[in-house]
Amino acid sequence: MPIDAILKNLPDLDAGWVWLAGAGPGDPGLLSLLSLKGLQQADVVVYDALVSEEILAMANDQAILEFAGKRGGQPSAKQKDISERLVELAGMGKKILRLKGGDPLVFGRGGEEARHLVDAGVPFRIVPGITAALGGLAYAGIPLTDRHTNSAVTFLTGHGADGGLARDIDWDALARSSPVIIIYMALRRVDLIADQLIRSGRAHDEPVAIVSRASTKDQFVLETSLGRCGEDVKAADIKSPAMIVVGENIKLRAGLDWLGAMEGRILDTDLSQIRPQGLRISEG
Ligand code: SAH
Repeated sequence: MPIDAILKNLPDLDAGWVWLAGAGPGDPGLLSLLSLKGLQQADVVVYDALVSEEILAMANDQAILEFAGKRGGQPSAKQKDISERLVELAGMGKKILRLKGGDPLVFGRGGEEARHLVDAGVPFRIVPGITAALGGLAYAGIPLTDRHTNSAVTFLTGHGADGGLARDIDWDALARSSPVIIIYMALRRVDLIADQLIRSGRAHDEPVAIVSRASTKDQFVLETSLGRCGEDVKAADIKSPAMIVVGENIKLRAGLDWLGAMEGRILDTDLSQIRPQGLRISEG
């Protein structure tokens, strides 16, 4: 079936509607067909800093591209202003694609924007995207779950409202219960997070991976440990966006780094170094 026919069979982005859509972690190939259709039909694309230029280039030629996000940590548009802008554009009868990095409802404030649309009576559709943890780990060659290492995984934000760690996380409970932990927005707090997890009982030598600019041509993966990650991150000058992965599953990368294999890495699927169900917590 030709791609045009495939897109035609999907719902239309109608006038006065907002599609609150995810763009995935970076690689344009990870965009959903619905997000692509939104790009093809939108009058206005209101996008965040994490949406790549290659993806914006997939918008139709008439679409107006409006930036609404943060750059270099500088807030350039307030959340309320963005939500009000969406309502304003809808009132003008525009077809609006609100495009966010990853998935719009994962640490993306998509819920807040949607509530604003509901209050204003603006019709909308939510189009999920591949969130950084899913797409990023796949491109790093690290299974999110694996029978040999973990039957649970937790996603959290490293960013608390006051610049420290999020206060509503029970770190001791997390350290005890979640063998694999994936932390968004954590690059500047790697030290704090590692110290906290060690204080909560996780081992110094537990594997840590920092996955930077996942699924883009600048993807970089640093493999380190809880005890060393603070220093290693400073020395490696890692670029944002990046996320931190903590857990035994990282060892599986040695056998699954398919991007590395394309550049000549020899993959090793020997699992003898893996600790079964790798939750390592000190007793007592
Ligand atoms: N809604 C987004 C997350 C927004 S919060 C999603 O679902 O992915 C921004 C954080 O996402 C960044 O600080 C980083 O931790 C993570 N992130 C987003 N894109 C990334 C990428 N390509 N590589 C690594 N981390 C990424």
